[in-house]
Amino acid sequence: MPPQPIVYDAPTPEPRASDAETLRNEILEKLTYAVGKDPIVARNTDWLTATILTVRDRIIDQWMESTRDTWRTSKKRVYYLSLEFLIGRLMRDAISNLGMMESVREALASFNVELDDLIEREPDAALGNGGLGRLAACFLESMSTIKVPAYGYGIRYVNGMFRQEMSDGWQVELPETWLAHGNPWEFERRESAYEIGFGGYVEPVQQPDGSVRQIWHPAEHINAVAYDTPVVGWRGARVNTLRLWSAQPVDPILLDRFNSGDHVGALEESARAATITRVLYPADSNPAGQELRLRQEFFFSSASLQDIVRRHLQQYGELGSLPDKVAVQLNDTHPAISVAELMRILMDVHGLGWDQAWKLTKATFAYTNHTLLPEALETWPVALLERLLPRQMQIAYAINAMVLEEAREKGMEDEQIAAISLIDENGGRRLRMGQLAFVGSHSVNGVSALHTELMKHTVFADLHKLYPQRINNKTNGVTPRRWLMQCNPGLTQLISERIGSEFRDDIEQVIKLDAHAEDKSFQDRFAAVKRQNKERLAAVIRERLGIAVSPDALFDVQIKRIHEYKRQLLNIMEAVAQYNMIRAHPEKRWVPRVKVFAGKAASSYWNAKLVIKLINDVAKVVNNDPAVRGLLKIAFLPNYNVSLAETIIPAADLSEQISTAGMEASGTGNMKFALNGALTIGTLDGANVEMRERLGPENIVIFGLTAGEVEDVRRQNRSSREVIEASHPLREVVEAIGAGVFSPDDRSRYRQLMDGLYEHDWFMVARDFDAYSAAQRKVDAYWGDRSAWNSMAIRNTARMGWFSSDRTIREYAEEIWRASHV
Ligand SMILES: *Cc1c(COP(=O)(O)O)cnc(C)c1O
Repeated sequence: MPPQPIVYDAPTPEPRASDAETLRNEILEKLTYAVGKDPIVARNTDWLTATILTVRDRIIDQWMESTRDTWRTSKKRVYYLSLEFLIGRLMRDAISNLGMMESVREALASFNVELDDLIEREPDAALGNGGLGRLAACFLESMSTIKVPAYGYGIRYVNGMFRQEMSDGWQVELPETWLAHGNPWEFERRESAYEIGFGGYVEPVQQPDGSVRQIWHPAEHINAVAYDTPVVGWRGARVNTLRLWSAQPVDPILLDRFNSGDHVGALEESARAATITRVLYPADSNPAGQELRLRQEFFFSSASLQDIVRRHLQQYGELGSLPDKVAVQLNDTHPAISVAELMRILMDVHGLGWDQAWKLTKATFAYTNHTLLPEALETWPVALLERLLPRQMQIAYAINAMVLEEAREKGMEDEQIAAISLIDENGGRRLRMGQLAFVGSHSVNGVSALHTELMKHTVFADLHKLYPQRINNKTNGVTPRRWLMQCNPGLTQLISERIGSEFRDDIEQVIKLDAHAEDKSFQDRFAAVKRQNKERLAAVIRERLGIAVSPDALFDVQIKRIHEYKRQLLNIMEAVAQYNMIRAHPEKRWVPRVKVFAGKAASSYWNAKLVIKLINDVAKVVNNDPAVRGLLKIAFLPNYNVSLAETIIPAADLSEQISTAGMEASGTGNMKFALNGALTIGTLDGANVEMRERLGPENIVIFGLTAGEVEDVRRQNRSSREVIEASHPLREVVEAIGAGVFSPDDRSRYRQLMDGLYEHDWFMVARDFDAYSAAQRKVDAYWGDRSAWNSMAIRNTARMGWFSSDRTIREYAEEIWRASHV
């Protein structure tokens, strides 16, 4: 019998006082006794730690209460498994969600310490690459806000996302050491450690009752140690846990080996264990083929499942109720090996039979697909799996046999059966993780309406035929706390003054602003807030890049990972066309624009890095050409991360969401901008489609090929040569960049990139160019009537409430997890 929880039904403690006077005393106390510093010599990092510890105490009471509530009420727990959590800074989020902004500010001011300076000191927790990791972070915050009992499970990378610097316009990657000053948010749980095995062999063992159990004898063991971070919801509604695993040697000293004289060998082996959680793989859409990556995936999956099963047994004493009390969401295929690992735990450790284990497994897991890009669909060589995870591979084979049998019974043809198979037989046998996650889950969801439909007809077409009820859609959302209230206090205040404060608790109330969109005085105030935000961004651009930009210009922004399908190339090529026009027609009245770019390229992704260099090369020429008369400025801000996004987004007039149709699963950057009153120029891709429906087609600028048209062009294998030859502005741009006009130091730098557009225009950069250019001129025309522009901007904010991650999480809770929420 597992140990029963201690019965402790203490009443909820009174909330601690949070007035400035109390906070002042506690911050001083933390500074002295926890940080060990005298205020006279304390630095901002010390004040930051003391402030976080003070705020943290207020979170802990609620954290304990939330945990106790789940035990007491036997509510279902939701576990969100994600290899990435791009959480950014936590302090402002926590202080703001607890409603303590002003009192903390005042308390610190009494020591002559500025809260804003401390906020800027906190390192970004960048344990993710981009949208997928940020979604996981928004979801955690929303799960606390709408009171879903939940845990996030991931990896505590010592080095998260790399820091990006520029050297002569090229990206340089440097390690980011977010833990350098310690991390006051986390609690190390030495007692919550699990052994994770790798390698070895499987032994069938006859049981007393005659049955046979497979026992895995791993050759290697590594400890997974838990680090917990509390996640506070809005108004401290509930505090959930983000549990990140760190790899540590089972025997940190290997004393026998050390004492026998093999000092280096002993230390090396114990150090090797820790390498599993050393780095985040810096690729967001093509799986690194390294064994270490597979080890990471299994390491965090196995640790999380062992923890989940242990907690369930502790409370319920049996496993038959697992799916009634546990929902596990797999964020993409990175944790897909969990399907085989849970089967192993249920059968080999707890003695369940195959049929029951399979039923419980399927009812427990749900899987979210994030991409249709073929190069991003994860597969692992069967040979590698057989060596590293022999028992899990056996189970995957058995699952496969069962599914294929089912397909045969339903009368499917051989070709369809090959498409369903978990094993890809083309070019070396590989296990398809998407297929494994699909068959092992009761729900498979896409992240926007368009993406979900495409999923049914592309990657999972045949599995969809076999299991037609399984695929469903959950359009992404973003948390309005971080992406409106915290990053844009000016707009938040203005909205409150106009429609009252209810929208803070229920973001969909923001629709009430719609009635004020034509009110001239409100438009002016809305524009004044935007202008203030633009002044702040202009100061950042001046400080970091030495480029002077006018806040009166139209701020046109594209910030996101650099990827060919996201088409930063299209944007910068159109900027070159505009540069040509401004010079050719100085007599015309051009709308002054500032083009802002930011984003990181995967370190091995040459074309993406070349596009960063191109943006910087074009910027250098355009920004310094007197003939431009300041009408066009281009700024590439280095080191894009959550904090930089929080500075840039409130200052944007125009949001660039211009991916090749059919390739962006949803996008969430698009939602953050529109919520902050930027107009979108975009393709009918991902969530842009649903944004157009909710904003009204008159409040968004859509251009370009549709997903269906892109597919047709590709199927017919049509070259873009005639397109380029037929468009004078496009040809001029392609020829100028290709001939080295922007790279006089290396005239052939962009030749291949430009030549490639003629025959291999896979991303439709040339084919969409004229439509994009025309859409940009439409934007110019809108900008010319500022009152009309402002009313559109207001309607964007007013109508974006639906794209809140609170709504998304409610849908997950009701339709997939069947978990309680408010
Ligand atoms: C929102 C966000 C993303 C996702 O942006 P997309 O434009 O949807 O690709 C990526 N990185 C950061 C830091 C973000 O905040």
